Amino acid sequence: MGIIDGKVISSKLKEEFRSKIDSLEKKPFLVMIRIGDDAAAEIYTRLKGKTCLELGIPYTELHLKSDITQEELLSQIDELNNDDKVTAILIESPIPYHLNILEAFDRIDPKKDVDGLSSYNLGNLAGNHPIFTPATPLGIMTLLKEYRIEIEGKKCVVVGRSNLVGRPMAMCLLNANGTVTICHSRTKDLADITRQADILVVAIGKPKYIKEDMIKEGAVVIDVGINRLEETKKIVGDVDFDQVKDKCSYITPVPGGVGPMTIISLIQNLIKTVE
Ligand code: NDP
Repeated sequence: MGIIDGKVISSKLKEEFRSKIDSLEKKPFLVMIRIGDDAAAEIYTRLKGKTCLELGIPYTELHLKSDITQEELLSQIDELNNDDKVTAILIESPIPYHLNILEAFDRIDPKKDVDGLSSYNLGNLAGNHPIFTPATPLGIMTLLKEYRIEIEGKKCVVVGRSNLVGRPMAMCLLNANGTVTICHSRTKDLADITRQADILVVAIGKPKYIKEDMIKEGAVVIDVGINRLEETKKIVGDVDFDQVKDKCSYITPVPGGVGPMTIISLIQNLIKTVE
């Protein structure tokens, strides 16, 4: 069993990106929109801001009140779209329920949509001419490449179909010539399908859900899940790492696998806004 070490790869990329950013004539400028006071959204924007700071990328956080109307939000996005200084805009999830996040994503100028979550960018990815790929799948593709894991012709199973992870992940694997199956909460006989996977990506948000009998011998297992156990407060993935590790050829640990790749892949997209 080999560990796919996201910390090592993201640190290496950070240094590469640092010198690239230093040499850029025009620097990216990121605006992160955060709405309301969700604790996770606050942590993620802080972490993204910290990485931008370390790499010399200017950014601001636009913190909007939780009772903002959809019209006010769209007009804030319009303002940022029209501001030439701003090269990148993202909206941190989750946002209050009364707001339509898909409409907000679609209002962002596609050239500034660094999260790649607008219909335009997701559509381009589905059509195999990606511009901005969502950061988590992009980071996973980087990990597979760094560990020289071949995708072409391989049976790839993605468990989870969110717009943020599962769907774009499946598109990335398909674009890399994998043979892709997508599973979700209505999938029947999940284990029969996951057992066929040469490459299994799991993004469901269910602690230790994938067990040893759901994995093929020698599979590559990518665990996207981040779950905090109530009793111990420990962070675990969607895969039962201890049960599964000796059966697979490669596995991403949680924490330290996919997680560190997400922010660095956002930086990769940020650089693209000025190239
Ligand atoms: P969502 O809740 O948006 O989507 C979960 C998906 O899993 C849905 O498609 C759902 O199916 C499916 N699902 C749920 N239960 C099952 C089940 N028992 N069997 C099969 N499929 C199931 O989550 P996200 O995609 O946003 O995130 C998934 C996990 O990844 C979370 O733990 C999240 O914290 C983590 N995450 C980690 C990131 C990182 O950087 N490492 C980044 C983003 C997310 P259906 O569509 O039918 O409801």
